Amino acid sequence: MSDYCAPEMYTALSRRLSAALENAGVTEEIVMARRNSYLMIETSLDICSNLRKRKRILFHFGSQSEGTTTPGLRSDIDILGCDLRTHVMRDWSQWKPKRKNVKMFKDKDLPPQQYLIQAVRQDSPEPETESKGKYVLFKNSILLVGSESRRKKCLNIMFTKFGRTHTSGPSTSFSDEVDLVYALGVKDLVPEIQQWIQRHRPGNWPPQALLEECKTCMNFLVPVGHADSDTNHVEWRLSPNLIERKLMFSLNLTQIKCCVLLKIMKNSLFNSIVNGGITSFHCKTIVLYTIERIPVHLWQEQNLAFLLIQCLHTMQRWIKYGICPHYIIKGVNLFDGKLRRTKCKILHTYILSLIENKLQGLKQIDIDNIGMALSEQTIESIQHLNCILTNGIQNKLEFDRVGRQQNDVWRCLLEVVENKSFTNASKNLNKILRKCIQYYLNGTVSERTIAEQLFIWLMSFHVSMQASMIIQNQCHLNKCVILFKQSLSTDVTSNRLKLASFLVSTGYLQSALIVLCDIQQRLNAKPIKVCCPCGNRNLSDTLLETFTRYSVGKCSSNENHMALCVRFLKYEAFCVPPALLLEMNRTGIEAEYSKLDRIQTDWDRHVSVDADVFMYYLKYLTYGGLGDIRKQLSALEGLTECIQNHTEELYHLETAYNLLGHCVEMTGHCLELTGLLEKAASVYLMSLQSKPRNNAANWHIRRLCGNTQYT
Ligand SMILES: [Zn+2]
Repeated sequence: MSDYCAPEMYTALSRRLSAALENAGVTEEIVMARRNSYLMIETSLDICSNLRKRKRILFHFGSQSEGTTTPGLRSDIDILGCDLRTHVMRDWSQWKPKRKNVKMFKDKDLPPQQYLIQAVRQDSPEPETESKGKYVLFKNSILLVGSESRRKKCLNIMFTKFGRTHTSGPSTSFSDEVDLVYALGVKDLVPEIQQWIQRHRPGNWPPQALLEECKTCMNFLVPVGHADSDTNHVEWRLSPNLIERKLMFSLNLTQIKCCVLLKIMKNSLFNSIVNGGITSFHCKTIVLYTIERIPVHLWQEQNLAFLLIQCLHTMQRWIKYGICPHYIIKGVNLFDGKLRRTKCKILHTYILSLIENKLQGLKQIDIDNIGMALSEQTIESIQHLNCILTNGIQNKLEFDRVGRQQNDVWRCLLEVVENKSFTNASKNLNKILRKCIQYYLNGTVSERTIAEQLFIWLMSFHVSMQASMIIQNQCHLNKCVILFKQSLSTDVTSNRLKLASFLVSTGYLQSALIVLCDIQQRLNAKPIKVCCPCGNRNLSDTLLETFTRYSVGKCSSNENHMALCVRFLKYEAFCVPPALLLEMNRTGIEAEYSKLDRIQTDWDRHVSVDADVFMYYLKYLTYGGLGDIRKQLSALEGLTECIQNHTEELYHLETAYNLLGHCVEMTGHCLELTGLLEKAASVYLMSLQSKPRNNAANWHIRRLCGNTQYT
């Protein structure tokens, strides 16, 4: 215990450090908000995956989902996609019929944590003997599932889909924000985990109950070989991510702060010396080993600086010998392939000087204002929680969550109705609505919450499809309005705009006007963040500053305080203004539209439009129909300003230009001003500039140049 008698020497610095971190958003509230947000996304993805009958489950790991990050760290999102179609067995007795089986095994020459995966016959528990170009031949004629080829396959799929990719370790990605890892799940308790659970520990951490829980966690095999291995193209790495997440979730706020501080020091101080040689995973491992070594009662806020020094002691010992042990898997050196021995010496000297100078070096930190806060004269000057930042982080988490969930629901919806007749699409939609109800009735607390949201979002499409059918059959319109009322509260705009669009399409213009004025009032009441559930993101969506201006959380009932794009499926055609319908089927438009029978045409596509653009467009149509030219022109002005002032922020710019062009054209016809047709053509050209291919503007321009059949 004598080593631990001096924490009070550091009390003042500890309080100062702690306040500086809270100012950067490392608070109980934000840590929990980050974790809850990602767990909700996981639950939602899981449910949607089931609705889509997908055999894949997605997990979010790393700093963002653990809550061990700050805005200045700019941590990316690590997503692990576990392939549920493949059953990984450890011996032949585990073979399952009607499944794609593979067998994991160790070869004596393999580095620790690495496994090989043997191909297995589909019809019997025997080794696969025919390669068919899919497998890699290993010694003793064993056919293996290659890890390098698997990564290449993921890269190709991603490149085809997104047009750009990069790769790092086992992960492949299409953006700087997200890292994706393909993985196979291992449900059995493997010897490496068994050994870790049973190993002798100096303290009482992790507690026995937590270790018992860890026994039941699924582990993963990810396609990456050891950096120094000759067989790394066929090696798969055992990754106990779920156990690591469990351990991180069990930490108290002081332990989290230690971890975040180390990551900040890594980015700001260490990596200028070792150029990326220290990773977030190293920092996490240092903290976990230090927690095991230092008595539990010392992990308190007033000891933070002392505890950080203990972490640095752990780190300098490892750097001295060039060995960073994996916290769970024995025999692994996490410095392999990351940190060169020549660099270790310089870093070792630097860390010793940090400890000797009682952490004075932390004042050099240039991330999240930590260095500045430590240099302040009084603790009071830094001891105010930055409310604006806290709100900003919470709003961004909510925005990202809703965007991700909505995008997944949208893809799920497109998949179940794709290429179906109206009847079959309705039937499929009803089926997944019923599944949502089952989740709501029988699921866990978080599944019930998510299932309710998904149900309301999916219901809004169901309602609009029914309304479209009612218009086609000329049934009673009151029934439609009642249907719409049930789904208005998904967000501020999208379903209210659908109702307005329905009323415009059926000629109930006065009623449409009431709905549109209500939407305008809601949009004017306070700043509302626009969100694209179709999967598009603009620059401002990635910046935290954007979210300090908005409050996107729920305002009443289940309504998110956001303005989502309005999306129409082909089955909602009767609720969609004709010019917007053109956007649905952009290829082969000429052939289809020449029939001038939009119902007979096979609209295989869907259309999305920014909420405020669509509101002004509907206003233009409504005032036009009511013969109020002055207000109609005012709506046109509103639409023009909306596009000109927010060009960078619009998610569907080409559609916005096309609707504007159409309004200019109609104004030209209405006021018999020929100059406006040229102006309309120039607006369509701007649309083409923003999206040269697969754009309805092509058709509009050709029509204006000669074909005048359509008016
Ligand atoms: Zn959108």
